[in-house]
Amino acid sequence: MMLAPTYHPEARRLLAYATGHADLPLRLMMEAHLSNCSVCTRQVACLSAPGGRVLEAWPEQTPPPDLLDRIWVQVARRQPEAVAGIPLPAALLADLPPPRSWRWRTTFSGGCRVARLLRDESSGSSLFLVHLPPDGRFPFHVHLGDEDSLVLTGGVRLGGRLLEAGDWDHTSPGVEHEARADAHEGCWTLSRLEGRGLRLAGWRGMLQWVMERGL
Ligand SMILES: [Zn+2]
Repeated sequence: MMLAPTYHPEARRLLAYATGHADLPLRLMMEAHLSNCSVCTRQVACLSAPGGRVLEAWPEQTPPPDLLDRIWVQVARRQPEAVAGIPLPAALLADLPPPRSWRWRTTFSGGCRVARLLRDESSGSSLFLVHLPPDGRFPFHVHLGDEDSLVLTGGVRLGGRLLEAGDWDHTSPGVEHEARADAHEGCWTLSRLEGRGLRLAGWRGMLQWVMERGL
């Protein structure tokens, strides 16, 4: 069984999910996190409970009727299933375009592979699957919008913290950082980027092509 996560989504992400306001990239990432996090699952359950204080404050919001059922199915499914070597939960894969249609891009250095899985037209956010080989790195970059990341397997150092399977990270716009994968396992992450994504710092926009060529 995976260890319980150390780092969790922000309260506003939990609330958006619990009240049915998460866009598709956020919903999929939240469900993947909740599948391994009893702490956040309890919080979502409280936020979603009919008559709960939060929902009383917004009487017009009704949680999706199958929300708790979906969460408990996810909780029962503790371990992500490996599909074609990619550690995504089966329930999440069901909501994505087929893996054969994903277009992988590789950064010029560091061995990082990135595929945009989908884009939510209503919110403009995108969901990316990122793979770093052992000791691989994603070069210094600046975020132009909010980024939420969820580690699926392995580990990665990001902004001075070690994130492991199930851990969630939020990066605010304007923050500059580098990601370096665990030396033995590498890492797989899901990332949701808002707005115009990111640009590399000091690398002449090397990664602009990732975002601008409709990855
Ligand atoms: Zn959590």
